[in-house]
Amino acid sequence: MYTESLVKFGKVRSEIRDLFEYGMKRKAEIGAENVFDFSIGNPSVPAPDCVNDAIKELVDDFDAVALHGYTSAQGDANVRETVANYINDKFNAGISADNIYMTCGAAASLSIVMNAVLQAGDECIVIKPYFPEYGVFLERTGAKLVEVDPEEKTFQIDIEKMSSAINEKTKMVVINSPNNPSGVVYKKDNVLAFCKLLKEKEEEYGHPIFLVSDEPYRALVYDDIELPYLINHYDNTFVCYSYSKALSLPGERIGYVVVSPKIANYEDAYAAVCGSGRALGYVCAPAMWQRVIAKCIDKTSDVSIYKKNRDLFYNSLTEMGYECVYPDGAFYLFVKAMEDDSRAFAEKAKKHELLVVPADSFGAPGYVRVSYCVNTEQIERALPAFKALAEEYK
Ligand code: PLP
Repeated sequence: MYTESLVKFGKVRSEIRDLFEYGMKRKAEIGAENVFDFSIGNPSVPAPDCVNDAIKELVDDFDAVALHGYTSAQGDANVRETVANYINDKFNAGISADNIYMTCGAAASLSIVMNAVLQAGDECIVIKPYFPEYGVFLERTGAKLVEVDPEEKTFQIDIEKMSSAINEKTKMVVINSPNNPSGVVYKKDNVLAFCKLLKEKEEEYGHPIFLVSDEPYRALVYDDIELPYLINHYDNTFVCYSYSKALSLPGERIGYVVVSPKIANYEDAYAAVCGSGRALGYVCAPAMWQRVIAKCIDKTSDVSIYKKNRDLFYNSLTEMGYECVYPDGAFYLFVKAMEDDSRAFAEKAKKHELLVVPADSFGAPGYVRVSYCVNTEQIERALPAFKALAEEYK
């Protein structure tokens, strides 16, 4: 009677949500301080002061009807101009307000772009490990999700494997750097080699292959690493951005899509994004939050706290014998499970009150994701439990 695939999405919660719910129950049973919950990617650092200041200013100074009223479907023109100017100042990307579509966060940005471009019979490549919701966002298009392995150990893009995976049906490739769940940042050389490959494949097959850069973690890079702005390196690019992590606003649902000015048939590409937003019911991203982010355009949360957590956690776990991919960004550690079955490993971790997410649903069985967007003190207190868990495998 109902759309079967959607009933399934509604009934089967993600593994992360399941663990998070378990954590809430367990905290009620034994006290929050006794459960080491590393399950969810909810920023632990508060939004910067400019966010509250902006809200106050808007409430005090803005016409109340206009403040809460609809904006244009694609977002307030002044906000889009502010966003475009900021991107140009930072990356010299040559865009304008007309390249921006304001959305309810990266999830909406991705759904909009996937539904704007993909159709039944198309293939959309994702690189393992990847955000499992990609499969949900494109499900209604009828396109097929194709997983490609990364380079072993480094988790960078494997150019050869990519080259073999791309075929005449490939319409889209999604990359996510800094990556959820690995924390890996793709190196500039690696990304540029990948863009070169995509251009060659476009020529070989005679049609565009759209690159979607999923960037909610762009602001969360801890070392001196350049993150190339893909619009400057590959014409057929959409950027899906969000303020969920950069400004610690995941519940407010605000972000945007950038449609490259050099994309194939730009007018239709932007119209397809607008049409997709309309078809999915995503018109007019939250009006007040559009204006808040415009007022905080060059600010981020204090990401030095995540860097401190990353250093403490990575160094401590590797000293204990855990194998971790070095995370240059985001707020996740990707840890090799100490047995082949990462779900069994996560269950054993639970016995020590450690909540870590098996990475099977991220396309990477054998690993677990450990979110370190928590108080540093929680990491310090959890280290003996990680040590005891490692001891079990000795
Ligand atoms: N893409 C990735 C890789 C994510 O990790 C997330 C959220 O955690 C999203 C997209 C969705 O972000 P948003 O909360 O802005 O919709």
